[in-house]
Amino acid sequence: MRDIRKVVVIGAGISGLACAFRLRQLGIPVLILEASAKAGGVISTVRRNGFLFEAGPQCPRFPKSVWTLIFELGLQEEFIAGDPRAKRYILRDGQLHRAPFSAGGLFTTSLVGLKSKYSLLSEVFRRSHPPTQEESLAEFVDRKFGAEVLDYLVDPFISTIFFGDPHRMGMLSAFPALVEWEQSRGSVVRGALSAYRSKRNRNAKSPSAEGSSARDSHSKRGDLHVTDALPSLGSFKQGMGALVERLAEKLRDHLRFGVNVESITAQNGDNQPDPVWRIRLSSEELSAGAVVVATPAYAAAPLLGESMAQLSVLLAGIEHAPMDVVSCAFDRRQIRHPLDGFGFMVPRRERLHTFCTFWNSSLFPAHARSGTVVMTSFAARGGDGNLDEVPDDVLGQHVEAENAAVLGITGGPIDRMTWKYPRALPQYNVGHAQRVKEIREALSQVPGLFLAGNYLAGRSIGDCVDTAFQAADLLHSRFSS
Ligand SMILES: Cc1cc2nc3c(=O)[nH]c(=O)nc-3n(C[C@H](O)[C@H](O)[C@H](O)COP(=O)(O)OP(=O)(O)OC[C@H]3O[C@@H](n4cnc5c(N)ncnc54)[C@H](O)[C@@H]3O)c2cc1C
Repeated sequence: MRDIRKVVVIGAGISGLACAFRLRQLGIPVLILEASAKAGGVISTVRRNGFLFEAGPQCPRFPKSVWTLIFELGLQEEFIAGDPRAKRYILRDGQLHRAPFSAGGLFTTSLVGLKSKYSLLSEVFRRSHPPTQEESLAEFVDRKFGAEVLDYLVDPFISTIFFGDPHRMGMLSAFPALVEWEQSRGSVVRGALSAYRSKRNRNAKSPSAEGSSARDSHSKRGDLHVTDALPSLGSFKQGMGALVERLAEKLRDHLRFGVNVESITAQNGDNQPDPVWRIRLSSEELSAGAVVVATPAYAAAPLLGESMAQLSVLLAGIEHAPMDVVSCAFDRRQIRHPLDGFGFMVPRRERLHTFCTFWNSSLFPAHARSGTVVMTSFAARGGDGNLDEVPDDVLGQHVEAENAAVLGITGGPIDRMTWKYPRALPQYNVGHAQRVKEIREALSQVPGLFLAGNYLAGRSIGDCVDTAFQAADLLHSRFSS
C-alpha cells in the first residue's frame, strides 16, 4: 500500500463515524474533526428524569449495514426491537384512521373512497409506462391512482419519512425501483412481486443464507451472516444515541471535538502523483493524504469552494427541508387515547403544523418511567405562521395543542425537549439523481477526496452507513493499488 499518511474525516455524524470505523478496520490511520462538542450529529438521545428523548430518528429501520455495525461494536445485547406490525394511524377530518398495509386493509379503510380503492387494487391488472422525463411523485401517484390516494395515503408517509413534498420529489431521484418496475413490467405491483421472487431465489441459492439465523452472526466482516431473520425496526435500551456513542468510544483516540473546518484545498507536490490535502481550521492548518467530507451537503459546499468550485456549486444546490422535533412526557392518566401503536401521521390537507407523532413509550416502554408516556412530534409547515420564528416553548405549545385535540390530552407535559433543524434533511427532488451523478463525476477527477452523507444514496441511517463503508473501501482500494 502506498503511504497515505493520515486520512482526515470531517464530521462525526453516523456517516463520518462509520467511515472512520471502517478505515480503522482496514488499518488506515484516521483523524476525525467534529465542529460540535459531541459525536452523532442528528442522532442523539437525552436521558433525564426517567425519560429518553430522541433528537433525531425515533424508531428507525435496521437494515443489514446497520446490523453489521451493531455486531462489530458488540451492541447486539443493547438492541430492542420495535413491533413492525404496530398500528400506524392517519388523521382525516380530525379523526384517526388505521393506515392500511395490506389488500385487506385497503378494502376496509375509510381513508379513501371506492374509486381510489379500485385504482389501487386493480393496478396489478393494468399496464402503463413512465414518461421519458423525470416526473414528480405527485404526478406519478395522480397519473396512476388519483388525487385522494396522493393526499391521504402517500403524502402523510412522505412527510413523515422524507420531510418531503410529493409535488417536488422526483421519482427517479427518490424511487428509482418503482420507475424500473413500471418500465419493465408495466405495473409497479407486478414489478415488486417479480423483484421479491428474484431476491427470494437468490437468497435460497446463496450458501450463507442456508439455515442461517440471527445467532449465526459473527462480529468480523467477511464471515458475518447478517440475515433477514434480524429485527428490521427498533432502538437501543439507552436510545439511538447508544449507536453513535459506542462508535465514538471505539474511535476516541482519533476524534477531535470543537474543530470547525473552514476549507480544504489540494496541493500538488513536485514529485508526488497525488495531492497533499490542506485542511484549514480557525487557528491552524493540517495536512492529510486523503479527506472524507462527511458533513451535510450544505456544510460541505463552502469547504470546497476555494479549489473545487464546480463540486461546491453542485453541493450547494441541494435543497433541504426544515423540521422541528418536540418530545413530551405526560402522566398516562392525562391522555384519553390508548396510544396503541406506532403513532399517527398528518396529511398536509389537515393544515396542522404537526407532520407526525410517535408514541415512543408504546414502542419502547422502558423509555418512560412507570405510569408515564413519551411522545415525539415532527412539525414545521402550515397553520398560522412560520414555526422557525417562534421560541421553543411557543413551538412546544403549538404542537401540544394539536396533539391534545387529536389524542384527548388534558394539561401540560411533565417534561419537554425541543430541537430545531432549519435544514433537517436533503430533498430527493426532481433532478437530484442527475445532480448526484454530476457530483460523482466531478469527484472522480479529484484523487484523494471522498464524500459520505445522506444526500448521495438515501437519507436513512442504513444508507449513510452504506455510503460511508463504500467511501472507506474505495479509499482503501485506490491507495492500496
Ligand atoms: C429529525 C430527524 C429524524 C430522522 N429519522 C430517521 C429515521 O427514523 N430513520 C432513519 O433511517 N433516518 C432518519 N433520519 C435521517 C438520519 O438520521 C440522517 O440522515 C443521518 O443521521 C445523517 O447523518 P450524517 O452523519 O450524514 O450527518 P449529520 O448527522 O448531520 O452529521 C454531520 C456532522 O458534521 C459536523 N460538521 C458539519 N460541518 C462541519 C465542519 N465544517 N467541520 C467539522 N464538522 C462539521 C456536524 O457538526 C455533524 O456532527 C432522521 C433525521 C432527522 C433530522
